[in-house]
Amino acid sequence: MSLLRSLLIRLSRSTTLQDFIIGFSVSRRMSRRFVAGETLEEAIEVISSLNQRGILTTIDHLGENVTSKEEARQAAEEYLRALDGLAESGVDSGVSLKLTQMGLDIDQSFCEGNVAQIVEKAKRHGIFVRIDMEGSPHTERTIQVYRALRQRYDNVGIAIQSYLYRSEDDVRQMIPQGLNVRLCKGAYDEPPHIAFPDKRDVDANLIKLTEMLLTEEARKAGCYPALATHDEKIIDWCKEHVQKEGIGKEEFEFQMLYGIRPRLQQELADQGYRVRAYVPYGDSWYPYFMRRLAERPANLLFLLGNLFKA
Ligand SMILES: Cc1cc2nc3c(=O)[nH]c(=O)nc-3n(C[C@H](O)[C@H](O)[C@H](O)COP(=O)(O)OP(=O)(O)OC[C@H]3O[C@@H](n4cnc5c(N)ncnc54)[C@H](O)[C@@H]3O)c2cc1C
Repeated sequence: MSLLRSLLIRLSRSTTLQDFIIGFSVSRRMSRRFVAGETLEEAIEVISSLNQRGILTTIDHLGENVTSKEEARQAAEEYLRALDGLAESGVDSGVSLKLTQMGLDIDQSFCEGNVAQIVEKAKRHGIFVRIDMEGSPHTERTIQVYRALRQRYDNVGIAIQSYLYRSEDDVRQMIPQGLNVRLCKGAYDEPPHIAFPDKRDVDANLIKLTEMLLTEEARKAGCYPALATHDEKIIDWCKEHVQKEGIGKEEFEFQMLYGIRPRLQQELADQGYRVRAYVPYGDSWYPYFMRRLAERPANLLFLLGNLFKA
């Protein structure tokens, strides 16, 4: 991992820098490139226009690492409100959430209870709930909560990160259960005894995990992989692979983040692939925004250039 990326991910946890960055109108404006708005209504407008262009979505109410049960309950309430809003507006969207926002670090069963309420309501509305994967201190507990919920509900899925050594085993165990898994490279700063330090290995593992979830055995078991990447080499590999293996376009999907590679998203949708954009909204955009800067230094240079002009 590059030093700059590592530094930016560390800074995404700094409350001092957060107060500094969110104080600048230019950074708030720039965050709008990646964040649909501060309110649910703004997010629904964005979703509706994406849907009109043939792009599905999953909505994320920004927030993570809450420290009190009260905050976690409020976050869960916001999701329950969002589910009603999505259903009433008639847009086609799932929801994505982070377990640390639902109280994972406070009490695992309390967290599971909060998420169960969300998944239950989502089921009544015919909406799918994706549990995002966070940093490695949360991996095992996230999988445990997911497994417990998956025994009760079929409208819940998980995300797996290809930079972690353990992910191959995790995916192997999930295949017989026919699960809906989002595969991504991973956005946190992980040590080399846990995660591949070399980006080429992370990329190769993303391909390997996708291949595993697309085998005939996995598809027969009901697996549905969502390949979450903006990496054109991997997307092109996937397009070739499914064509060669005779895998239908409805048996998997591509996922990308709102505001990143929008032309590519549109091209894939126009070619008949299922494409889902991850649409975040809310006022707690700082850590999410910093992780997006970490992924692409050009974004940081643009921000710095504008901060000093402001
Ligand atoms: C839908 C979705 C859900 C995700 N969920 C999770 C999750 O639950 N847990 C988790 O740890 N991570 C998650 N991620 C983030 C992911 O792990 C990566 O950090 C992120 O997607 C960047 O990696 P990449 O696969 O796009 O490839 P990279 O090799 O990083 O990038 C490939 C190309 O994509 C473009 N690109 C990538 N990032 C940016 C950016 N920020 N700004 C502009 N261009 C960019 C550039 O052209 C770059 O050359 C998710 C990503 C997506 C798309």
